Amino acid sequence: MSVFDGDRLIRVMPDALANKIAAGEVVQRPASALKELVENSLDAGAERVDVLLKGAGSTLVQVVDDGVGMSRSDAAEAFRRHATSKLYTLEDLDALGTLGFRGEALASIAAVAQVELRTRRATDEAGTRVVADGGLARDAEPVGAPVGTSLAVRNLFFNVPARRAFLKTPATEYRHLLETFQALTLSHPGVSFTLRHDDDEVYRLMANPDDDDDAALARRIADLFGHDLHDALVPVAETTTYLRIRGFVGRPERHKRSRGEQFLFVNRRVVKSRPLDHAVASAFERLIPEGTHPFFALFLEMDPAHVDVNVHPSKAEVKFDDERGVYALVRAVVRKALAHADFVPELPPDPLAATFGAAPAGHTSDAFGTAAMFGPAPTPDALLPQLDASFEGRIVHLPEPDPTVLEEEMMLPLVDANANAAHDAKGVGPEAVLFQLHDTYIVTPIRSGLLVLDQRAAHERILYEKARATLESGFGLSQQLLFPHTFEPAAPDLALLKELQGDLVALGFVVEFFSGRTVVVRGVPADVRAGDERSILEDLIEQFRTLRERLRLPHRDTLARAIARRSAIRHGQRLAQPEMRLLIDQLFACEAPMAAPDGRPTLVRLSTDELAKRFA
Ligand code: ADP
Ligand code: MG
Repeated sequence: MSVFDGDRLIRVMPDALANKIAAGEVVQRPASALKELVENSLDAGAERVDVLLKGAGSTLVQVVDDGVGMSRSDAAEAFRRHATSKLYTLEDLDALGTLGFRGEALASIAAVAQVELRTRRATDEAGTRVVADGGLARDAEPVGAPVGTSLAVRNLFFNVPARRAFLKTPATEYRHLLETFQALTLSHPGVSFTLRHDDDEVYRLMANPDDDDDAALARRIADLFGHDLHDALVPVAETTTYLRIRGFVGRPERHKRSRGEQFLFVNRRVVKSRPLDHAVASAFERLIPEGTHPFFALFLEMDPAHVDVNVHPSKAEVKFDDERGVYALVRAVVRKALAHADFVPELPPDPLAATFGAAPAGHTSDAFGTAAMFGPAPTPDALLPQLDASFEGRIVHLPEPDPTVLEEEMMLPLVDANANAAHDAKGVGPEAVLFQLHDTYIVTPIRSGLLVLDQRAAHERILYEKARATLESGFGLSQQLLFPHTFEPAAPDLALLKELQGDLVALGFVVEFFSGRTVVVRGVPADVRAGDERSILEDLIEQFRTLRERLRLPHRDTLARAIARRSAIRHGQRLAQPEMRLLIDQLFACEAPMAAPDGRPTLVRLSTDELAKRFA
């Protein structure tokens, strides 16, 4: 596995190479540090990796391995930016055998945490200890140490309070850590792993002798997720000239409400790919309820020349030279695997008829009348249990809102005035029940019935009005980027950027233009989500261009729309109660809460009268 031995030298990459490689923010949260450290251990040929976490990773992330270790001079060098032993020339990037290659991770981690490295090679008598505190590496000193490497990362973001504040709840950070750990251990079933969190042993995973074997992967899945899942695995395997796919998907009945159990690997690297998640999801269409997610652990193997692993600072995203081809193939292969498994129900000639066919005798014919009323049939949900299907049918076809009534109602407190007389602001009261439907709509009772919000449309409205206000005032708060982001836009985009510079500054961007086409982003608006810093400006310009072609509006308006479209929460995004509440409150604080900037309605209302009619 390891492509080097203990005698290699770490070299600082030539500048040209370093610049070619998109640098950026590597560490966003404890899980990103965990990923980088474990990848280093795997690159070092470790057979055993022990992970210790404290305080959901914000107190401690420590990874101990039995890999090749480092020499004293390499240990001192490892914290320098672009110090890597894995990549010397640009050609190497096309034939990468290791997980790391940018020589950026340790430097980035050390810049924002208190790091302690202990390492020893088998051939060295004494080990080495290096302590780096907020980026300043102290001298390497001799120390007794077992063969291998231990890296402890303490108090992540201790010197970047803004970043620390960006961290989510410990439960959320811990979930990210777990998912990262699970993914890494799935990618290497031949390595044994343990995970401890605050003195609890969470996982002890034995090495499976044959690393590449499907059986080894299945055993690792069982160790991680239980034997139930093991028994519900459907193997996936296909080889084409371009690509080899192997791994497992879970049988449909094993679906989950969250996406947590979806793992994708490209050349054994843990990656995320929305298109490929979607490809798998669409292969499961009609087999699992909408808004739920299948288990999968799929390994794609391909010539590294066909895949760019360097499009994302944490190397989590990849780009294939034939995106569509890979999408189609993954979908087809998963479909085929599911079709060959024994459980797939035959699609009835008319799914709706089948769904309602189970109704008590006498109601069968009426089913079509009902179905016709429900509008476009058949839906994928038609194969779901009856209750779901009929519920869906009603809820998605709410009557058009009557704007006059609604606007009136919005002026009133939406909770019972007696229950909370003081609460006379617009929006929902603190005790209102909020329910998220299919991670897409927010449903809440109001005095006269039921209110349904489209979370994306609502958020677009909020962001749009906020961007307009910021642009008018010209005082967008900016956050300085730890690592400025450099990119080279195409000529038309560069011209556009220059044209918009004034407005971008007003929004909080700090942009500098250099000779040639180089653009350096030193700051972004303060409320940009962690992890978004790198792509936001490029996406924004792209959105702006598309919108401008479609609508001929003043610059600022187009820019505000572009921001709204770029950054609004999506359909399919799970929201916590406080987030839904905030969304509603902010929507009702808008000047024009009823519609997204492009006119799509943000909400519909179902009155109790309407309900009563339907139950009559
Ligand atoms: P990269 O992995 O991209 O090379 P990193 O900053 O992650 O960059 O690591 C820098 C260098 O430190 C690596 O190239 C490797 O030589 C050395 N290194 C880091 N972690 C380990 C480890 N666990 N065992 C052995 N060498 C390591
Ligand atoms: Mg690395």
